[in-house]
Amino acid sequence: MKKLSTLDLLNLFPEHKGKAKDDISIYEVFTDSRHEASHGLFVPIIGENFDAHDYILEAIDNGAVAALWSKNELHRGIPTDFPIFFVEDTIEALQDVATYYREQKDPIVIGITGSNGKTTTKELVAACMSEKYKVTKTSGNLNNHIGLPRSILSMEPDTEVLVLEMGMSQFGEIETLSKISKPDVAIITNIGESHIEHLGSRAGIAKAKSEILAGLKDDGIFIIDGDESLLKNHPENVRTLTCGFDENNDFVISNFKQGVADTSFHLNDESFSIPLLGRHQAKNFAFAFATSKYLGISGPSVQSAMKQLNLPSMRFEKLETTSGATVINDAYNASATSMIASIDVVKEMPFKKKIIVLGDVLELGSFSQQEHEKVGAFIDNSVDILYTFGNESQHIQNALSENFIGLNEHFTSREELIGAIKENMTEDSIILFKASRGLRFEEIIEEILKT
Ligand code: ATP
Ligand code: MG
Repeated sequence: MKKLSTLDLLNLFPEHKGKAKDDISIYEVFTDSRHEASHGLFVPIIGENFDAHDYILEAIDNGAVAALWSKNELHRGIPTDFPIFFVEDTIEALQDVATYYREQKDPIVIGITGSNGKTTTKELVAACMSEKYKVTKTSGNLNNHIGLPRSILSMEPDTEVLVLEMGMSQFGEIETLSKISKPDVAIITNIGESHIEHLGSRAGIAKAKSEILAGLKDDGIFIIDGDESLLKNHPENVRTLTCGFDENNDFVISNFKQGVADTSFHLNDESFSIPLLGRHQAKNFAFAFATSKYLGISGPSVQSAMKQLNLPSMRFEKLETTSGATVINDAYNASATSMIASIDVVKEMPFKKKIIVLGDVLELGSFSQQEHEKVGAFIDNSVDILYTFGNESQHIQNALSENFIGLNEHFTSREELIGAIKENMTEDSIILFKASRGLRFEEIIEEILKT
């Protein structure tokens, strides 16, 4: 379906060449010249190791009907007779095209940030919204200054609700993403420790996440983790809904019951069951519920949306080994907060033997030791075996709570770790794997599943 035309681009970027003045329809906007596009606008991005202006001919072969071009790249071969729009910076121009398209189509926008739980909450919100609206959501984890505009531009023109994940590692980034998206609903899922090396403290992280208010529509609504004291000072002129376990919240989670495959609880006076495990997931659900109430979707519809929930792998994914032991693959990423949250879920699950396998949490800079020690202090006598792997995770072992009486060992060899798990697992065991993605725990899990 037509999304834009070269005439729209001409308004945004008057400097042009080729047949830019012809009214050429654009069905999609793409940045990877290898992608087969249909009536595509090619936006060449300059990366650290490549400059996509070099691939313009490939992009044309693959279906580009127009392209943006950086004014700093005029020395590169520019195709003749092909519509080109000259811009200062192609990433900023991509953001401008996304802003323009979002303004033209004017969907209800739901923006989601937070240290942990963004993708999960995005999926929960999108499933609920799909009960009533035509929804487009961030695909996968495309949540940064390039991914977010691409997500906006991926929406079909008849989209009614756009659900966007917003990620960041520095101050200023969420502000930019929020201004591009102009959310009607802005959600902060939680404040953890990710990127603390750039942001200084958890208070700095809370401040950076709160930049999501910069683009919130005047009549928009702010939905937050109400149990987090660092979010308590939200501006008084912004309509705010708080969610959490504390009974002063607008949406209060109570009667929490952890099952083996699902979790049930009350949210104010309605009861729900979700196919996700852990107290943090009940909270993520509460954000989706609050959004649903605000946009006129009923409790029963929200419950029925849980059947359509489509969650990506490696996020507390429940698997089974050949011999029948339960494996939880939660090794998509990690922070101290999310490690503790996952261990907490396993602690409450009804398994005879609980084996926890933790790897390094990366990118913590000078906070690394302290954050790993926080996790160690959380391991108590409800855990039977604790294995750690890598370098930094040694600090987990050094800070174990006094009442941990199980078996523990630190490994630097994958083979030895796999050997130890195999030796000690039984069919009534649950084995939790959690580490930063760089530790490649999926390879270890693959070996264990064969056992
Ligand atoms: P990324 O920054 O990589 O995009 P994300 O914010 O999208 O991460 P998810 O992928 O949804 O987060 O979840 C990652 C992990 O964070 C989960 O596996 C879980 O362990 C933990 N988690 C999810 N929600 C919360 C929450 N509300 N509070 C604390 N931890 C959470
Ligand atoms: Mg994510």
